[in-house]
Amino acid sequence: MTLPEGFLDRVKAALGEGGWLSEPSDLEPYCTSWRDDWHGVTPLVARPDTTARVAEVVRLCAEARVPLVPQGGNTGLTGGGQPHEHGREIVLSTGRLNRIRAVDLDNDTITVEAGVVLQTIQEEAARHGRFFPLSLAAEGSCQIGGNLATNAGGTQVLRYGNARALCLGLEVVLADGRVWDGLRGLRKDNTGYALKDLFIGAEGTLGIITAAVLRLVAELTDVQTALTAVPSPAAAVTLLGRLRATFGEQLTAFELMSRSCFEIAQAAIDGLDDPLPQPAPWAVLVDIAGQGAPGALLEPLETALADGLEQGLVSDAVIASSLDQRRQLWRAREEQAEAQRRTGVGIKHDVAVPISEIAPFVEAADAALRDAYPGIRLITFGHVGDGNLHYNPLQPDDWDGAAFRAETGRVNRIVHDLVVAHGGSISAEHGLGRLRRDENTRYKSDVELDLMRRIKRALDPHDLLNPGKVLDVSAPAVEVGHRD
Ligand SMILES: Cc1cc2nc3c(=O)[nH]c(=O)nc-3n(C[C@H](O)[C@H](O)[C@H](O)COP(=O)(O)OP(=O)(O)OC[C@H]3O[C@@H](n4cnc5c(N)ncnc54)[C@H](O)[C@@H]3O)c2cc1C
Repeated sequence: MTLPEGFLDRVKAALGEGGWLSEPSDLEPYCTSWRDDWHGVTPLVARPDTTARVAEVVRLCAEARVPLVPQGGNTGLTGGGQPHEHGREIVLSTGRLNRIRAVDLDNDTITVEAGVVLQTIQEEAARHGRFFPLSLAAEGSCQIGGNLATNAGGTQVLRYGNARALCLGLEVVLADGRVWDGLRGLRKDNTGYALKDLFIGAEGTLGIITAAVLRLVAELTDVQTALTAVPSPAAAVTLLGRLRATFGEQLTAFELMSRSCFEIAQAAIDGLDDPLPQPAPWAVLVDIAGQGAPGALLEPLETALADGLEQGLVSDAVIASSLDQRRQLWRAREEQAEAQRRTGVGIKHDVAVPISEIAPFVEAADAALRDAYPGIRLITFGHVGDGNLHYNPLQPDDWDGAAFRAETGRVNRIVHDLVVAHGGSISAEHGLGRLRRDENTRYKSDVELDLMRRIKRALDPHDLLNPGKVLDVSAPAVEVGHRD
């Protein structure tokens, strides 16, 4: 497919020197996903350094009817940030929109451009004696625009909520090139529809986020971390309830991992040891954190875990005695994505169920998959405190990887049907992208899909912003009439 004559030259001129890439070797990393599972083609990566330049590129795309794909750190896991294979989309990378525009300590906010790397925001907050709680293993390379576009979750959602909960205002370039300045640092603003929330989690299909006002919270002065062996997911859920009752909001992380998570991490990642003296079928990483004197929470945590031991909820526990040991305890969890990337073919699921349904769901899904695929390895981990599991069946040892990959549809059906039967969602935090677009269509009601399509058509009538991702807009609109 060809682009309109002179289009690329007009875009390059709008971007200025250093504002675009077009050499095939430079384009390649922007066309390939982190897991190497999506490969697209583009003639140009636009790298604007101001909102005005983003707006001009989008305006030129609208005028020429050329679609574009926004991209941040390119760590997304659902094929949302890569162009399609047909080669007619340009990629708009936000990497040069990387200024911290303001820090307002009285308002406890930070205003940042979309391309600021998440870890940089955390560091800037710490420099000012504050904490920015969004935290995920990709934080060294993902960008806040991508975090907001995917409504990222991570390990601190239990206490602080996901990216949406941490965002007070947005600046967004709309599909026609206009800029919506919604950069308000307000905690209360009931002046109509919550427009910001439309763009958060829209994965670049409704507008391009160029800047955001984010909430900062009080610095944590005392963080205690424990790795606890638990006999089952049911015991983990009961332990979660007990720790919540004891610590309330001081419980900031509660991450479940199956034994298999440690096994693959130890095999794939150098220098990673299982910190538990005895291999346990399941383990939970617990963080308790607060603003008190350093070490003040240690004894209460020890007491709570000793109670858990007595009640048969915990079979063993290690509490970190230094920052270094804390990092060690978190390592197997943090390295899961990397370890799985290096270990055979896995069929990934990022699901949410009510916390009360976690144990019944895991039991039912494990049984159904073991029945369908004897020898299958079940890699189960996730943010149990949020009801979010990464449920990733791995090819049986005696299976060929390609043959197992060919089973994706059947495995998805087993897992996702059970998720829905347990009142859950087929995408908890990674979004839909291309990977789960059609799967989502299968489970969402007609009314919900129709509402989503109407919003998309209203904001992007020519389907130019990240087309083909999140939802298929080609389905006809439902006629809305009056009911007698
Ligand atoms: C090791 C690893 C661990 C991870 N752990 C977690 C986790 O715990 N929790 C979690 O939620 N995710 C996790 N992820 C997934 C990923 O890091 C997040 O989805 C992250 O928020 C994506 O940010 P990004 O800047 O890389 O976005 P990209 O990958 O560049 O883009 C993601 C989507 O957002 C769109 N987009 C990007 N920037 C913009 C913008 N400025 N405006 C509009 N649309 C935009 C893209 O078009 C694409 O659809 C993990 C990924 C890896 C590799």
